[in-house]
Amino acid sequence: MSQIVKTPFTRLQPADGDVVLVCAHNGKQVWHWYSMEDGSTVEKINLQTGEKEIIEAKWICICEECFGKYDSPEEAVAGDRIWCGDDPFIRENRPS
Ligand SMILES: [Zn+2]
Repeated sequence: MSQIVKTPFTRLQPADGDVVLVCAHNGKQVWHWYSMEDGSTVEKINLQTGEKEIIEAKWICICEECFGKYDSPEEAVAGDRIWCGDDPFIRENRPS
């Protein structure tokens, strides 16, 4: 049986309403978070209008698999989400 070790929350946390760019994978256990101080952007096609949109985000969140697969987190981005709530979520990663 694996034991979940709780590490401290990181100083920076996504705030309610922040845009988070995400990879295409759900339900993974390990996530890699990137705080983009200057804002990161990704192009997206609006499915209703067919127009290109530029999405600007403060955060990128990708899974372990994408972390190992791509040279930069932007390459793994498949969509965007709006973060809900101000609860701390991201914990420090400490190698055991
Ligand atoms: Zn992924």
